[in-house]
Amino acid sequence: MWRWPRPRNAIAKEIMAGTSPDLTPNIVISDSVRWTLNGSGKFTLKSAWNALRTVYPVVPWAKGVWFSHNVSRWAFIEWLTFLGRLFTKDRLLSWGLGVNATCVLCCQEDESHEHLFFECDYSRYVWTRMLGKNTIVRPCYGLAREIDWLCTHMRADSYTQRTYKLSLAASIYWIWRERNARVFKGINTSAESLWSKIADEVKACMCSWRRIKPNDENRLLVRS
Ligand SMILES: [Zn+2]
Repeated sequence: MWRWPRPRNAIAKEIMAGTSPDLTPNIVISDSVRWTLNGSGKFTLKSAWNALRTVYPVVPWAKGVWFSHNVSRWAFIEWLTFLGRLFTKDRLLSWGLGVNATCVLCCQEDESHEHLFFECDYSRYVWTRMLGKNTIVRPCYGLAREIDWLCTHMRADSYTQRTYKLSLAASIYWIWRERNARVFKGINTSAESLWSKIADEVKACMCSWRRIKPNDENRLLVRS
């Protein structure tokens, strides 16, 4: 029969309640602490984190956004965009906020994720130029189809695929930033100037990559 000391907390109470009165202590083996959330019995942060969090299925475009050569702030805005979580005007209006629904980039259509990426004349121009810079011969798609295209062209980590993924992230980030500059600061940049800036930013990232083969295709991608 066990003779427990008086329990001092809920955990001690739980241990006492879970111990069978018939359990015979093993006097040969010393007591030890075992972390039951890990197969090895040892505590790891990963096992604790996995026990605490809710696990959701991985979205198919995850590796198109979260790859090692992406720029963190670009990836973050791209991630919000793909989830439809940017504070676009259609969402603000749905929450009852009195904002002007018109897109500040083209001043023609109402602003939404789909419009900004890339149904808007302004953003379509920017992304079409970036596609050309990537030597990708196809029209500029809307957001949903662009994500589909990303999913089917991101599997390998080749130089051209990495550059395409980076270009998409940069374009989304800078278009959203241009939108904010117009809304909050009244500062406008032409589509031509913005695409040129994005191309320079992507080029700067590419030039920092190591072990890049200096072939004709790669030279074309970083050409000014
Ligand atoms: Zn627009």
